Order: sequence, then C-alpha cells, then structure tokens
Amino acid sequence: MESQRAAIVTGAARGIGAGIALELARCGLDVAIFDVLEATETAEAIRRLGRRALSLTGDVTSADDRAAALKRIDDEFGRLDVLVNNAGVAPSVRADILEAGEESYDRVMGINLKGPYFLTQAVANWMIRQKSQRDDGWMCIVNISSISAYTASPSRGEYCLSKAGVSMATKLWAARLAEHSIGVYEMRPGIIATDMTSAVRDKYDKLISEGLTPIRRWGQPTDIAAAVAACANGELKFSTGEVINVDGGFHLRVL
Ligand code: NAD
Repeated sequence: MESQRAAIVTGAARGIGAGIALELARCGLDVAIFDVLEATETAEAIRRLGRRALSLTGDVTSADDRAAALKRIDDEFGRLDVLVNNAGVAPSVRADILEAGEESYDRVMGINLKGPYFLTQAVANWMIRQKSQRDDGWMCIVNISSISAYTASPSRGEYCLSKAGVSMATKLWAARLAEHSIGVYEMRPGIIATDMTSAVRDKYDKLISEGLTPIRRWGQPTDIAAAVAACANGELKFSTGEVINVDGGFHLRVL
C-alpha cells in the first residue's frame, strides 16, 4: 500500500536523528529509521503519532545494508520523498593530528562521508525514477554536517574533514538534482545535548556560560528537527545547496 509521503532518517535510534524522525512523523510522513542500533523506542513513538514506522537495522557503510533498507522501504511504503543523512560518529578517541592513526580516519570518513554519499546516490536515482512516474509531492535530501565543517579541532581532524566533505557533497548533489526539482540542504548543528556530547558536558557547560555561543544554552535535537521539517515540508523550494546554521549563533564573528 502506498503512503502519503515517506522519509528515511539514518541514525535515528537516538539523539538528533530520533528528534528529526519524530518531527517528520508529526508533519505527516511515514518514517524509516536506518541505524546500527535497534530503534524500537523511536519507532513506537512514531506509531503513537499515527504514522507508519520501519526500524531497519543496518550500517550506513555497507552497500548491502543500504540496498536492503531501500528495498524494504519500497516494499512497505512504496515511495521515498525525504532522505536525512544524520548518522555520524566522533572519533572513538580524540588524538592530536600529529599522532592520530589511519584506522580512526577510515572509520569516521566511512560512516560520516562515504556511506551517506552512496546512500544519497541510490536514493537520488530512486527519486528521479519516482518523479518520472508521478509528481505528487516535494522531495528533498538533508545532510547533517556540523560547525566542524569549518571549525578546526586538531584533536579530531578526521571528524572535521568528514564534515567539510559533507558540506561539499551537499553542493554537488544540489547542483546535480536541481533540474529534477529535488532540494538538497546542509544543516549545521552547533553544540547539541545528545550521547555524542555527554562525555564533554562539563567542558561545554563552562564554555557556553562564558559566551561561546551568543545564545547561551545547549541546542536540543528538537532545534535541528524543526529546521529539517521546514526543508521536508517544502518551505524552502527556491533554495538549494543552502547551509542552515542551527548553532545558537556560534558562526557569528562578534567584536
Ligand atoms: P548520537 O551518537 O547520539 O547518535 C548517532 C546515531 O547514529 C546513533 O543512533 C548511532 O547508532 C547511529 N550510527 C552510528 N554509526 C552508524 C552507522 N555506521 N550506520 C548507521 N547508523 C549509525 O549522535 P548525535 O549527536 O545525535 O549526532 C547525529 C548527527 O549530528 C551526527 O552526524 C553528528 O556528527 C551530528 N552533529 C552532532 C552534534 C552534537 O553536538 N551532538 C553537533 C554537530 C553535528
């Protein structure tokens, strides 16, 4: 059975991805979660909102897992209108770039950049095929990058490189897909309260209270989710390749 509109959100078992998945469900989309972790809780919450949910366990770096996930979505939802590339990891150990090893580089680049790049390729081709069969809704792709796309942290170089790559991937896909009326956006979160930042909570509590971000509070997954929903709902149809900073004003230079 075909649904109204459907989205896939990677890494939505928890954190920012879970917030995005729930907000898209609130906006009326059916949602597939693609995560290495079981996403039972997020899926249940989506169903409580009256939308259909799929919890697809898989690794974004695996071509087989990506293909299997898209096939399940086709089988169950019969369509896909929105892709949110959210899954991402920080280096397991922060290491000075004078010391850091290749293993961590390959892991972080594989999950944050290569996997999403090829998932986008597969989804973009499917979206183009759908557009040739019917034209009944807005389609878009949202990449979750980071302030690390332009902020140098020499103790996690591979993370910064991966996010700078996500930024260029956004431009590439935006340029390629514009003729098909598929919008592509880059969401740049600042410091957001999730498991990823729990280990550095005290450090950032102090920095935020001292004014690191003009808006002196932690960001929440709901802050990112609201901005993604605007893209998914087609509020920005004459914009593509756009960077949306959701960072409490971190990117401002203030004198
Ligand atoms: P998180 O660690 O809480 O959640 C990440 C999710 O991605 C988890 O559910 C995890 O299981 C999943 N995941 C990890 N590797 C995967 C893989 N190989 N395949 C599929 N799923 C995988 O992190 P978060 O803070 O919610 O981060 C979400 C995104 O936002 C990431 O891309 C991160 O880089 C970005 N981001 C986070 C912050 C922040 O302050 N938390 C800031 C800027 C950007």
